Amino acid sequence: MPHVTLREVGLRDGLQSLKHFMPTSAKCDWIAAEHAAGVDEIEVTSFVPPKLLPQFADAEEVVTFALGLPGLTVAALMPNLRGAERGLALGVHKLNYVLSISESHNQSNVRRSTQESIDDFSRIVAAVRAADKPPVLCCGLATAFGCTFEGAVDEDRVRRIAGEIAAAGADEIMLADTVGYAAPDAIARVFAAVKREVGDMIVGAHFHDTRGLGIANVKAALDVGVRHFDASLAGLGGCPFAPGATGNIVSEDFVFLCESLGYDTGIDIERLVAVRPILAANLPGTELLGNVARAGLPKHFAPARLRALKVAAQ
Ligand code: ZN
Repeated sequence: MPHVTLREVGLRDGLQSLKHFMPTSAKCDWIAAEHAAGVDEIEVTSFVPPKLLPQFADAEEVVTFALGLPGLTVAALMPNLRGAERGLALGVHKLNYVLSISESHNQSNVRRSTQESIDDFSRIVAAVRAADKPPVLCCGLATAFGCTFEGAVDEDRVRRIAGEIAAAGADEIMLADTVGYAAPDAIARVFAAVKREVGDMIVGAHFHDTRGLGIANVKAALDVGVRHFDASLAGLGGCPFAPGATGNIVSEDFVFLCESLGYDTGIDIERLVAVRPILAANLPGTELLGNVARAGLPKHFAPARLRALKVAAQ
């Protein structure tokens, strides 16, 4: 039975756009509850300077808590070498770096060219590899399917930069539809091209559901062999200054799709849905999205693993 890995990113991608500080204890409760529901990888924070994003001022406490949960892969975002050093000092399992395929997006995000960000990544790789217990290094390629400044992006540029990042020493690459521009045909083309370019390293997907195509894009990615996905509980995320903008694909709906198609996620959907009250109680005024949470599971629903066992027993 094929396995699909969900990396929960609500605590980072979701919370970074919210002005309201989520109490550290609530973040820890959220992590523990998702871990108990079977989520085995969580991006728990970002090592940005707290002055820039006060939401992540408690990064050290949150990471330390998460590292105490058995079997959980604890991931964190690092914007630069300083961030990587904070992650290394704590013993985080996975560090994620992000650069943008679109020059304008990269400039507005980190005030440097995409090439300069690639060079920075190479320096981070060298520093991380020199550590006693080097974490897994993941590089996200943002705006890989379009950009609000530039519109369409050159698909071959995505392939080329993915190749450079792989050559620089990344362990995993994540292709991100940062602004929800992708349609399933583009997903299939770009993922197939990147996977041909980088061989058998992990190429994961990070989709936003801004225009409602998130779940369709997951199906397109599954069909070309993608098995690692980012998603956020209740679709947390979006931009408070862009009315109608929604966040990442909804973790609960993503698990429902995968399990319905016969992919084992190891996640108990009902226990995952039951984590939402932690968000409701601690993020007042934030809309919680999700179709499975609203409508419940179909009466006949059984997770992929149970169905496979039944077939095996017949
Ligand atoms: Zn994102």
